[in-house]
Amino acid sequence: MPICPALLNHPTTEYLMAMGLMDQFKAQRGFITYDFETLSDQVMKEITDQTILLSQLSKLLIASTEVYPNRDKSYELVNRCYTLFDELSENYQEQLENYGLPSNSSFVHLWLAQTFESAEQIYQCIKYDDENIPFDKCVKALGWNSSRFDIALLSDALDCELWTMGVPIRDLNNTKSITVTHKKSHMKLQFIDTENLFGPMILKACVKDYGDKSEHKDVFLYEIINSKNWNEVLMKTDPFEYEDFKSQLKEGYSITKDEYDQYLIDFKRFTKRLEYLKYYNINDTEIMVKPLMNLIDTFEQFNIDVLHYISIASCAYATKHYSTYFPSKFNLESNKQTYYSDFDITADYSNPNPKAKPFELTAGYWKNKCYHYKQQDYKAGRETEKNVTADDYDYYKRLFETSVCSICNAKFTYDNPPSLDRQDNELPHTKANCLPTCVTCNIAHANRDPKIASLHIKMRQYAIKHNLPMTISDERVYKLLRECITGGLAAVFLRENIAGKTHINELTYDEQQNKVISQDNENVVTHIFALDGNSLYPSSYSSVKNENIPYTDHRMYMAGRSKFYSENPYVIKNCIDQRKEIFVAKVKSYFPKSEYNNLLALPLIFRNIEIENKEEVIGEYMYSQAQKHSLPMSKKDRKLTTLVDTNGQFMVFNNYYLWLLIDLGFVITDYKAIAVFEKNAAYEPFVRTMMNLWIQSILSGSSKEKFYRLIINASYGYDTLNTEKFGKIKMLDKAGTFIAQYHPKHIGTRRISANTFAVQIKPKTATYFTSIQSGVFTLDNAKYWYLNYIQVHVQMS
Ligand SMILES: [Zn+2]
Repeated sequence: MPICPALLNHPTTEYLMAMGLMDQFKAQRGFITYDFETLSDQVMKEITDQTILLSQLSKLLIASTEVYPNRDKSYELVNRCYTLFDELSENYQEQLENYGLPSNSSFVHLWLAQTFESAEQIYQCIKYDDENIPFDKCVKALGWNSSRFDIALLSDALDCELWTMGVPIRDLNNTKSITVTHKKSHMKLQFIDTENLFGPMILKACVKDYGDKSEHKDVFLYEIINSKNWNEVLMKTDPFEYEDFKSQLKEGYSITKDEYDQYLIDFKRFTKRLEYLKYYNINDTEIMVKPLMNLIDTFEQFNIDVLHYISIASCAYATKHYSTYFPSKFNLESNKQTYYSDFDITADYSNPNPKAKPFELTAGYWKNKCYHYKQQDYKAGRETEKNVTADDYDYYKRLFETSVCSICNAKFTYDNPPSLDRQDNELPHTKANCLPTCVTCNIAHANRDPKIASLHIKMRQYAIKHNLPMTISDERVYKLLRECITGGLAAVFLRENIAGKTHINELTYDEQQNKVISQDNENVVTHIFALDGNSLYPSSYSSVKNENIPYTDHRMYMAGRSKFYSENPYVIKNCIDQRKEIFVAKVKSYFPKSEYNNLLALPLIFRNIEIENKEEVIGEYMYSQAQKHSLPMSKKDRKLTTLVDTNGQFMVFNNYYLWLLIDLGFVITDYKAIAVFEKNAAYEPFVRTMMNLWIQSILSGSSKEKFYRLIINASYGYDTLNTEKFGKIKMLDKAGTFIAQYHPKHIGTRRISANTFAVQIKPKTATYFTSIQSGVFTLDNAKYWYLNYIQVHVQMS
């Protein structure tokens, strides 16, 4: 499968692309922002012998801003605010009845009921006029830093007679997104944390850099207001005293004296404390609009719909892979480069790999196929008497050699094996009912609109033609790649150094005694030199030509689709020695002892090893501490460390990292496996564009700088994302939850409402739709850059 989530996991874009209507593409510009204000009740809780001050939060107010886009880039805003005071109002029951809500509903239910009605109107503004264009009936509700806090406050209102809550995305404690569906209108509200879109930054900074100059007041956490006195305290007409801003949780005041003076001036505009609170909460939801619009515009120029994604990482990941199909869209005026031509739905991409070996049908392969076709037909209740049989071998051998795919006109090769496609779906696999097609065309064709099927087929051919990454279908290759993933560089070096104080430490190896001696010398550290491994990621996956890379045409190519896998030591050794193919290889190896004194300052192998918690391994101090606190010591840990040999284990390296090690004296003793990949430089346009935007923002002194850096770095993270870990979340009732908790694959449970539980279960099968090969190459290429820099530029100077 080709990897392009921006097209293939997005029905609207997929449709527009397949029908040749991409000029109609528009990003969602209608949404809702919301914010909660809470009451905090302080409770003293006794946990073992310690007393802990906890703050229990309950809902006081919810404010929101609804954004209705116009046909041009302008939009209309509607503000709303519901509070606990509404529940006291005389016509509260009447208000509930207007929305068909039960009489015990809270003001948050009321807000949701109104928000569903507003979402319906926003949807009318954002959907396409052409009814055939699929467009999810879903409007996004965005809260600032809401994933833990606001979602928890909302959760008991998310399930009721009128609407129902879907499965939360990501794990149970940190909800990335949650969707609520209206039972009657089927309108969906998807709650997302805005922080996931901007990266970790405070609202103030975000508004300053992305928005206009609308003012933001930090939300005051009035610890003085609690569930007993809120009515009395907020109805007062005089401003709060400075003492009221004293915070026990923050151990001080939540605002400065100057900010308090400003508060007194602001307060004059309001008649009650409640009015002031309402005004600033509404304002806090409104000021999120500009930054979001800004973000939507940034990505719309690349045909990416930001609000389709729940985090900037997933958006960046989709954008990066989209760029490999449309490099010219990512070619900024300032640095026009020549790349391969864009994907074109009207172009003919058949036979993308002219070097592929023609397919030759063997009797065994054919017999096996016939057996499976018969099984398929039998299971579907189709008559199998006239089915193709092993006797038709000669006929089909010739047919596959002389004919082409009936769908895409491709020749059949070992890369692209044939299959029989039934023309009438009611009839079995007979000679008369079948035409030869590629296996992949056959799959793409199944139950799909022919134009969508054609898009999938052409994208696959395009991916083959340009050696783009495709999903790994060989489990052995997948496992090898998985093994190659270690943590980043930062985790390895955590030694404390103080400039002007710490003496330089030297390690020397005594070969005769087989001991390492650690000694501080008389020189004192004058400069702390930090190398941020993360900032290497752009160079690690950009494949830009650089004279510091002596291998493969002075580029570090990225891995495309899998080419072959082998466990033959001769084949593995040959690939390593010839330095032509790019690969990951699993080997045992070491640096000779004579090299140790050159290597001890920076051992070159950055890998995880299994560590036993023994005194001689972790040292006397750590060992005694662990014993003192009776920590479990029998467990083996996998730790990221730096080594001078592979510790007697087989370890996996990518070709660039391995070649550098070999050039520095690495000796391979044993060969286990190799996975070879096609080469590409497909991420170059993406990296150049984002680097350009990044540099522009640095020059203008904007903190958008952090945002672009985040896009460049986060886009790779999704490639290595281990989806196996996340598991499935099911919504169950009490009885179902009781049973599920005894299931061996049960991971966790969280109560959502009175009779609804979210139960997390380890999935039986996992599908990998990410480009794990790209992730692995990014990580190991970064190690190449880091070590090459130190070896060549620091140690030699
Ligand atoms: Zn085909």
